Parts: sequence; C-alpha cells; structure tokens
Amino acid sequence: MNKTVNTALGPISVEAMGKTLVHEHFWFTYAGWYGNTLYVNDRKEMVKIGVDLVERVRAFGVNTICDPTGLDCGRMPDVLKEIADITGFNIIFSTGYSYEAEGGAAYFRWKNAIGQGYDELFELYMTEITEGVGRTGPKPGFIKVGTSLNKITPYEEMNLRVAAHVSRETGVPIASHTEEGTMGPDIAKFLISEGADPKKIVLYHMCGNSDVKYHKRCLSQGVWSSFDRFGVQGFVGCPMDEDRSTMFMGLIGTGYIDQLLMSQDMVNLWLGKPPAWPQPMIDSLANWSSTHIFERIIPAMQSAGLTDAQVDKILIENPKKLFS
Ligand SMILES: [Zn+2]
Repeated sequence: MNKTVNTALGPISVEAMGKTLVHEHFWFTYAGWYGNTLYVNDRKEMVKIGVDLVERVRAFGVNTICDPTGLDCGRMPDVLKEIADITGFNIIFSTGYSYEAEGGAAYFRWKNAIGQGYDELFELYMTEITEGVGRTGPKPGFIKVGTSLNKITPYEEMNLRVAAHVSRETGVPIASHTEEGTMGPDIAKFLISEGADPKKIVLYHMCGNSDVKYHKRCLSQGVWSSFDRFGVQGFVGCPMDEDRSTMFMGLIGTGYIDQLLMSQDMVNLWLGKPPAWPQPMIDSLANWSSTHIFERIIPAMQSAGLTDAQVDKILIENPKKLFS
C-alpha cells in the first residue's frame, strides 16, 4: 500500500496529513482570464493571501488542504510551493483539466478531433505525477476532472478515461467535479469500468443533490462522496446548508460514514479582476469561508448527535484512507 502522498513540498507520509480539507482553492478562476492583461495578479499578494488562509485554517487544527484548481483554471504550483515553504503547511494540489464549460477545453477537443487527445493528455498527467509539473516542479497528489450538468460530453469522457488509466497506473486518486451534484453514478460507473479503483474516486459537490436514492446509487459503488459546498447557498441547484447537513447526517445514520468527506470549496482569491458580487449573492455567500464548517456546521451537527470520533473520522481518517 502506498503510504506517501505528494504535496507542494514533496512526498509526506499519509500519517502526517492530519485534519484535512479536501476541497479548497487558494485561488481560482475560469479559463480565459489570462487574456485580460489589465489584471495580472501580483505574486507577492497571492502568497500573502495564501499564508493568511493557512493561518486561519490552522487555528481550527487543519494540517492539510487539497486544492483541486484545474491546470486550466489558474493552478500555479510554484506559488503554492512558496506558501508551503513559508508555512510548512501541507498543500496537495492536482493535475487535470476541468469540465468543459469552466475550463480550457478547446486545445484537447482539437487534439481529440485529430485523434491525438488521449495520448497527449495521458502523457501530461502521467509525467506531472511521476516527474513533476514541467518535468522538474512539484508533483500533484491527485487528478481533478469534471462533468457538465446532467451530461458527460465526449471531451469530458476522454478526460475521465485518461484519469482512470493514470490512476490505475500510479495509484493516485481521481476527484471529479459534478455540476450541481449531477451525473455522480455515471461518473463512478465509467471510471470503474475503465479500471479505476472505487476507493480512489471522489465525487465532489454531492451536497448539491437532495435525492437520497441518488446518493445511494453513488455510494453503493464504493466511491467517496464529498459534501464540499457548505456556505454556498441560494443558487440554482445548490441546496441550503440545512439540506446538506440533513442529508449528511442521514447518510451517517444509515452507515455510510466511511465514504464521506467534507469541505467548503472556498475560492480565497479570484484571479483576474476581482468580481463585484450583486447584493443577493453577497447575502447568499455570507458564511462562505474555509472555516465555515468548524464555526457553524460541525457544532450544529454535534448538537444533533455527531460525536468527536465521527468528526475525526470524516476530517482525518477518511482523507488519509483516500490517499493511502
Ligand atoms: Zn472547487
């Protein structure tokens, strides 16, 4: 069994992961932002914001963040490494392209059309994981992929296939974005049919779905279900925190705690020109932060019966098992 995981500072023992947030973004934006040359992010400022994030989560005992920013959505491993150097904090970042509407799909869609998409993408993910980003940089600890709302496009299917094959070869986990919590059972089924180990598959944003039968169709395949959008409330397809918590507690009550993960999908910095949110969104996102689950969600669940041992299982033991 592989007992180490790649972080921005190199491999560490999975025992050293400790309390882990499985889905937080030091920064993020949508593919194409780099075209706006009027707003180029200052590296020093990014490092400062990143160090501040580490300090805020450390106050709640967090030792590790998994940052699934797609390499087409602003992933910058060398800047993450600088933050890790300063803080000594574990940052597990990903390789992988995001889902079609959010990421930079055009390049590999074109390569796919001329029959070269799969091979080039496979070489990229394999090389990043085994040799490092750009062959010499830090190594990603997992593969991030994604699918669209209620469908998996041909481009996304190629990406999933590559991820399954690279995971099978290297043993690193695959984490898939689901749009509003849709397509989970299909993603799991497809990745498993392509040779991925279900225990290495994470379905993100499952808290976007309030259908218990749907959750069981995912979990019965042995994959991980990530409730990682606590604090994102009031958008189409995004249930409120109390809906997420109800489903989460219900799944624990029916015996699925060994497959559950928890986070907030917080974007701590939007690359490019900072967004000016309209007032209804400011209200909806009032509690959205990388410490929200510690400040509000877990305490509420504990008053509903969640034990300290169960909290440790979800935040410490389960992430460790995923990377073991
Ligand atoms: Zn995210």
